[in-house]
Amino acid sequence: MLNNVDDFIQMLSLGTDSELELNAMKENKVEFRKQLGRLLSQSRKDAKDEKCFYCGERCSSFCNSHSIPAYFLRNIAVEGEVYNNNKLVNLPLLDNDNGVNQSGTFQLICRECDSKIFSDYENPDNYNYKDVPTAKMISQIAMKNYLKSISKRKFEIALYDNMNESFELPYEFYKHKQTINDLDLKEYIKDFNRAKRIDIKGWDNEYYLIYHQKLDYVVPMAFQSNVALMIDFEGGIINDIYNESPDYRIKSIHICVFPLENSSVIMLFIDSKDNKRYRSFYKQFRKLSAKDKLAAINYIIFNYSEDVFINKEVNDDILKHKGLIDASRKSFEILTMNPNVDTALVGSNVDFSKMNDIPNLLLEEFKIR
Ligand SMILES: [Zn+2]
Repeated sequence: MLNNVDDFIQMLSLGTDSELELNAMKENKVEFRKQLGRLLSQSRKDAKDEKCFYCGERCSSFCNSHSIPAYFLRNIAVEGEVYNNNKLVNLPLLDNDNGVNQSGTFQLICRECDSKIFSDYENPDNYNYKDVPTAKMISQIAMKNYLKSISKRKFEIALYDNMNESFELPYEFYKHKQTINDLDLKEYIKDFNRAKRIDIKGWDNEYYLIYHQKLDYVVPMAFQSNVALMIDFEGGIINDIYNESPDYRIKSIHICVFPLENSSVIMLFIDSKDNKRYRSFYKQFRKLSAKDKLAAINYIIFNYSEDVFINKEVNDDILKHKGLIDASRKSFEILTMNPNVDTALVGSNVDFSKMNDIPNLLLEEFKIR
């Protein structure tokens, strides 16, 4: 999430192995930070609403909501800290450690709402006593994912406006970027409102649980996000990024990896109305062996998202694995300034035949307990 200077720097720079580049970037770090710091804090201010996005009440101090419940992060934290994706991508200007309290947060709803509206899915007991998650738990996860997406888009819209004011961005680039951002924002708000209604009404079957697995060990990573898959296991197109119809929207799948105290829960689900888009994918997924299912999820997470959190004691050789680093970098390519590259392009070259080429952190051999 683009929430601080580091995130912005991350947006402008790809991971690099070049010693020379690394040093050059480090030297300019202070000046760079100063300039961007101003731009970012202004954009943060501009992106802020006056009202809580959930209850609509006027709100003077927003809650620092965790994208992954702090409880799950604490189960993989060492002395309160976890690695985020930057450890893997080796971005030269970032700190690799992230205290549990700062990791992946957004400010969009009031404290009272934050303490209430996610309570079913954030309660660890609900994973111990229930065989499968309830419809309410699932809709709350979806709600949280959409809030995170909304927060990110609102900030980016403000950021591009401010960058345009400060540096005069190329007109076509600026216009194109903001059109996409606006469309995405509208779609996320629609999806959020739907999830909210489903949660309140307690409706069943509005989300389709593709996969739910409880492992009797604690995996060394935590993840919760919605990602747009591009290609299925047989090379079939899931989301068509070249479809230029204004009515065509990219549809995402929700993925959770929740480390509990002595076990882990892994889930994949979609909005039932996106069933057609994902049908081939999940039919193929279900034919995989138990081990390959985990490999596929591990592969998706590292290729499609930058929101993964990892236990700090995972062996360095694993974290430096070339395949894993290359995969993680792919998810950063969206963050370049190239106007032809946008979110939808992530994963367009993700090939599931290579899913067993990277270390699968979900396997028992990597368990932390
Ligand atoms: Zn509220």
